Amino acid sequence: MPVKETRLIINLNDLAFNYAVIKEKLKPETKIMGVVKAFAYGTDSEVVAQKLVDLGVDYLAVAYIEEGVRLRKFGITIPILVFYPQVEELKQLLTYNLTPSIYNFRYLKKLNATLNKEDIEDFQIHIKINTGLNRLGFDLNELEAIYNEINQSKRIKVVGLFSHLAASGNAKEAKFTQSQIEKFEIAKRFFQSKFDQKLIAHLCNSSGIFNFPEAEYDMVRAGIALYGYGNNTKEHEQLQPISSLKTVITQLRSIQVGESVGYERLFKASRKTKVATLPLGYVDGIARQFGNLKAEVLINGKTAPIIGNVCMDTMMVDVTDIECKEGDHVTIFGKEHSALKFDKLQQSIPYEIITRISQRVTRVIES
Ligand SMILES: *Cc1c(COP(=O)(O)O)cnc(C)c1O
Repeated sequence: MPVKETRLIINLNDLAFNYAVIKEKLKPETKIMGVVKAFAYGTDSEVVAQKLVDLGVDYLAVAYIEEGVRLRKFGITIPILVFYPQVEELKQLLTYNLTPSIYNFRYLKKLNATLNKEDIEDFQIHIKINTGLNRLGFDLNELEAIYNEINQSKRIKVVGLFSHLAASGNAKEAKFTQSQIEKFEIAKRFFQSKFDQKLIAHLCNSSGIFNFPEAEYDMVRAGIALYGYGNNTKEHEQLQPISSLKTVITQLRSIQVGESVGYERLFKASRKTKVATLPLGYVDGIARQFGNLKAEVLINGKTAPIIGNVCMDTMMVDVTDIECKEGDHVTIFGKEHSALKFDKLQQSIPYEIITRISQRVTRVIES
């Protein structure tokens, strides 16, 4: 049963706003892929996917097949790219009309064999090229071999070609990003010369959209920007966090100098301290690394640091200088107190903070 006091509020108007900010950056004909993996970055994948479809998004992307199946069962019909399909799950792709990213020969060969066996033609895939992230994808010296494998069965229809930038949010790595763009160009030229159909080439993630407009190609893959976060640049500041984690104060107490708070007694009061207990803890996604003054929540317009260790189901904050009472609302992070502000010492990144909110927390949709 989800807990009621602690809610993740998801605002669809803010999602629409961020979508418009991204769209504004792009040429009118550039397609947008909305990345809704990981429960749409910790929000609600079905609701967010449906809103993106309503807004006119061209493609959706998920990490794993189950996530795509979930969207199909919900009724989403636009193309869905699966970034990390597993070889054993080929049948699911076919059943649910999901488009795989193909990134190695093991998978490509298995796909060909299955398509032959099932007598399926025109099966759509996107080819993933490794241009420097060194995570997944074919290397540039494999282009000819990929083509030969695909050409052999003629059952695969390559509709897209993509790669992923390693440091598009980091100006110091602009040269490296440039080298990734150049490698991608080589792959694009190669495949476009081999196939009659016009391929959808896509390279940019959110930071890429803002920092490397020259690499827009035919489509961009927008993830974190849709959810309201970027990498601290001016342009990103206009984005609105769409998910706000809120709770209430469940108990207030005052402790004297020398008294401690929480397990292991890591907070010791050096002044008379007012302590507020909040009904969420590490199981809800507030990692223990945020305990002991590393993060701040917002209560009645003022920030309150987390004191002591974060517990499993609860955590304590110092509200000595804040006027508040039991039952008052608390914003852990959200529109008026971004994940970057919550994470005062920048020990983490908004991606990690917002995606970790566990399924125990009730989702509330606002629009
Ligand atoms: C998650 C992911 C994205 C989205 O990245 P953001 O930085 O959140 O925009 C794009 N492409 C791939 C391959 C991904 O895995």
